[in-house]
Amino acid sequence: LEPRLVEMIAREIVDHGQPVTWDDIAGLEFAKQCVNEAVIWPMQRPVIFTGLRRLPKGLLLFGPPGTGKTLIGKAIATQSGATFFSISASSLTSKWVGEAEKLVRTLFAVASWREPSVIFIDEIDSMLCQRTEGDAEASRRIKTEFLVQLDGVGTRPEDRILVIGATNRPQELDEAARRRFVKRLYIPLPEPLARRRLVSHLLSKNSSSVSDAEIDEIVARTDGYSGADLHSLCAEAALGPVRDMAASIKGADLASMSAADVRPIRRSDFVSALRHIRASVAKRDLDAYEAWNGQFGSFNRAHEEQQGAEQGPPE
Ligand code: ADP
Repeated sequence: LEPRLVEMIAREIVDHGQPVTWDDIAGLEFAKQCVNEAVIWPMQRPVIFTGLRRLPKGLLLFGPPGTGKTLIGKAIATQSGATFFSISASSLTSKWVGEAEKLVRTLFAVASWREPSVIFIDEIDSMLCQRTEGDAEASRRIKTEFLVQLDGVGTRPEDRILVIGATNRPQELDEAARRRFVKRLYIPLPEPLARRRLVSHLLSKNSSSVSDAEIDEIVARTDGYSGADLHSLCAEAALGPVRDMAASIKGADLASMSAADVRPIRRSDFVSALRHIRASVAKRDLDAYEAWNGQFGSFNRAHEEQQGAEQGPPE
């Protein structure tokens, strides 16, 4: 291994950020439950999870952007005490140009050395897509190296390395890539309860006079918003009080105002923020995710609920 690359990985790819727990992620109860069983338990108790129960090598998280896929990756690492390696596939081809293959090899070696490890690859579609035009040769080589490395993971029974791929475009993955990500989990847009939790949590960071009933109204008006959209919405609303203050002092020095002069965030700030910050995911994209989930998803809530209904209550 090249020490230079090992050092670069430790510095730029190993995530040193805040640990993330399930409580930090609003909603997604079904996804959390699936992730617990499929990967966290096996990471925590490899002695029990052997043979048929062993840790899958690859987990694919797919769904619209800004719905918490990266957060889930981090939470998996936090809960299983794993080192979290995080890189976007597009930076492999742009930032690490010419060295990407070597970097991929080194990354897997370092991960194996520091296990338990979670290797999180964002925008995995851009590395493993079906297209082969353009600078085909270079991307083909990276793709091959990645698949070789992924195949090598978990060859020893005690290995505890999990590769997580995240994508907003699962349709672009080819069959070889799909097959390697044995577990494929849909991360949908937040449901009303999750939106409520997110908005309340975000508002708790600043002074606010938005009532519970008004939060319900915001929740009702943000159907189709992703977690990231809600974050932008609340940030925009939070600017309302400052804009008002700037308007009231008409050119006077903002620096002379104290933080205590800023009024709480209120409903009307949200009403105007809702005009600017719209849902970023189109309905037809959602239909495409649902369809892909129906065809290739490993965990299908509707299917499980239906089975439960058919079996009826236990006697
Ligand atoms: P992606 O699905 O694109 O990986 P991220 O996990 O990076 O999305 O989420 C982007 C941002 O959106 C997060 O930093 C967080 O602020 C917010 N967010 C999205 N979904 C959730 C959620 N379920 N709970 C809490 N925050 C969320």
